[in-house]
Amino acid sequence: MTKSTQLFTESKKHIPGGVNSPVRAFTGVYGEPIFIDKADKAYLYDVDGNKYIDFVGSWGPAILGHNHPQVAKAVQESVAHGLSFGAPTALELEMADYLTQHIPNLELVRMVSSGTEATMSAIRLARGYTGRNKIIKFAGCYHGHSDALLVNAGSGALTQGTPSSAGVTPGAAQDTLVAKYNCLASVEALFKANPTEIACIIVEPVAGNMNCVPPVEGFLQGLRALCDQYGALLIFDEVMTGFRVDFAGSQKLFGINADLITLGKIIGGGMPVGAFGGKKEIMQQIAPLGGVYQAGTLSGNPISMTAGLTTLKLLNHESNYKNLEQSTTYLIEGLQVLAHKYGHDFYTTKVGGMFGFFFTKEEVVDLETASRADIEKYKKFHQFMLANGVYFAPSAFESSFMSLAHTKEDLDFVLEVAEKAFANL
Ligand code: PMP
Repeated sequence: MTKSTQLFTESKKHIPGGVNSPVRAFTGVYGEPIFIDKADKAYLYDVDGNKYIDFVGSWGPAILGHNHPQVAKAVQESVAHGLSFGAPTALELEMADYLTQHIPNLELVRMVSSGTEATMSAIRLARGYTGRNKIIKFAGCYHGHSDALLVNAGSGALTQGTPSSAGVTPGAAQDTLVAKYNCLASVEALFKANPTEIACIIVEPVAGNMNCVPPVEGFLQGLRALCDQYGALLIFDEVMTGFRVDFAGSQKLFGINADLITLGKIIGGGMPVGAFGGKKEIMQQIAPLGGVYQAGTLSGNPISMTAGLTTLKLLNHESNYKNLEQSTTYLIEGLQVLAHKYGHDFYTTKVGGMFGFFFTKEEVVDLETASRADIEKYKKFHQFMLANGVYFAPSAFESSFMSLAHTKEDLDFVLEVAEKAFANL
C-alpha cells in the first residue's frame, strides 16, 4: 500500500471525506488523492517520493512556481516579527497602496482571509450601497461557498453534482438570479423582470470554475452597459484572474471598468488571503465608516501580506506575462495537435496564464457546452497523465494554471506523455 493510500485511509477517519476541500478527494476523477510532501518550482513531490509537473499551482496562487526562494526568505523574516497582531501594520498599508496603484478602479481596498469572504462581503456591500436585494450570477461560475452564491455554482460544487447546496435556505437563495455565461439576452431578461431590484452582477471575467471559459467579444461590455442602464453595480470576481490574466487583471485586459473587484489567491503568494475593493464612494459604506459590517480576526495577516507583496513585486514585469502566454500557447497548441492526431474531439481555451481543454468538438462558451464535453475521457486522460508524472486538476470543471517556473523541457515532457495518453484513450 502506498503512503498516500495509508494517509487517505487514516484521514477519512478524522476529516469528512479525508480532505479539507472537496475536489481534493479526487471524486471528479479516477483513483485516490496524492498526499503531497513538498513542492518546488513547477513540481509537486508526493509522500511516496514521486515527482509531478503541476498545473494546479495550489489552485492558482503559485504563479511564480512553488517555494520561490525570495518569497520563502521574506516570509521567514516576517515570521521573526510575530505571526498576528490583530492591530494595524505598515504591511497592510503597503499592500493596499500596491493594489490600488496597480488595479484600475480600486480606490479603497479591504483585506480578508479567503476569496469566499471577499465575494460575500462585496455582495453585502453592493446590497447596502444600492438598497436593493437581488443579485445576478452566472451558471457555472463559482464565487466561494457563502449561501447566496452557492446557487448553480461551479468548481467543487459542480464536480460533486451539488451546484446548489443542501443547507442553503430558500430565503438565502431566492434573491440570487442565475443567468447564462456569455449570453447577454439572459441577463437583460432578468433586468427587465426586476428593473429596480438588482443590486449587482457578479461575474468571473474569465470563467475558471467550469474549466476555463473566456468571455466572448462584447459580453463584459454588455454587462457594464446593462448595469449602467439599470443602476446596478458590476462586480468583477478576480479571485482567480487577478494578476493571472494580466498584471492589472481583467479590467485592463478587456477595457472594462468594474465598480467592485474581489481578489485572492496570487495576492497571498500561497498564504490565506482575499481582498475586495472599488470606488471610494461605495467602499466608504463599509464599517467603521459606514453601515455595512465586515470584519476578520486574521484579516491583513502579516505573513500573508509579506508573501503576497513579495510575489506581486517579483511578478511585476511585462516579460513575465509574455512568458506565461508563450508557455500556455506552446502547451495548449501541442495538446491540440496531438489530440487530433489520434482522432479525439478536443477544444482548448486560454487567457494569459490560465487555460483549459475539453474533449468536445463544439465551441465551449457556457456551462451547457462545458458539460457536454466527454467527462469520462477527461478522467481517463487525467489518470494516465498522473500515473506518468503530470498533475492536472482532479476535475474536468477546473481551469489549469501555468507558472513562470515551467520550462520548455517540462512542457515537452508533458506533450510526450500526452501523446501516449491520447494514443491509449
Ligand atoms: N471566486 C473565484 C473566482 C474562485 O475561483 C474562488 C476559489 N477557487 C473563490 C472565489 C473562493 O475563494 P476561496 O477558496 O479562497 O474561498
